Amino acid sequence: MDLTTSYVFDAAHRIAGHPGKCAWLHGHTYHLEVTVSSPTLNALGMVMDFDDLRDAVRKAVLDLWDHSTLLAADDPLGPAISAVQREAPDRVVLLPGQPTAEVLTREAWTRIEPQLPAGIALERVAIRETPSCGSAISRSRT
Ligand SMILES: [Zn+2]
Repeated sequence: MDLTTSYVFDAAHRIAGHPGKCAWLHGHTYHLEVTVSSPTLNALGMVMDFDDLRDAVRKAVLDLWDHSTLLAADDPLGPAISAVQREAPDRVVLLPGQPTAEVLTREAWTRIEPQLPAGIALERVAIRETPSCGSAISRSRT
């Protein structure tokens, strides 16, 4: 049986080298959806406690990305933004690729999966940048 939770976080990003407006530093209100599963329910009739799942996702992703600037590790803007944001250096997150919805989805998967309790499988992670544009990864296609 599956269990799904959803989250909202705000972050800035840009796609360095993009030929259009995505190259400009801008922000999104991202929507993250996480689905986990278990073949059995626990003694309380749950796949897992919603609060425990929310806590795992918060620690794995939201605490790091919410109200951050998400950049590729080699983005030349990284040092400049870090310099003007000295009071919160951890709010500039450098990623191993451009901070597209696809890369963020893959990163979220990589960060969430090890946080799950034994016996709980990560089934799907989806991130929407806008109400109409997003990316998703499912366990069968990782
Ligand atoms: Zn964008």
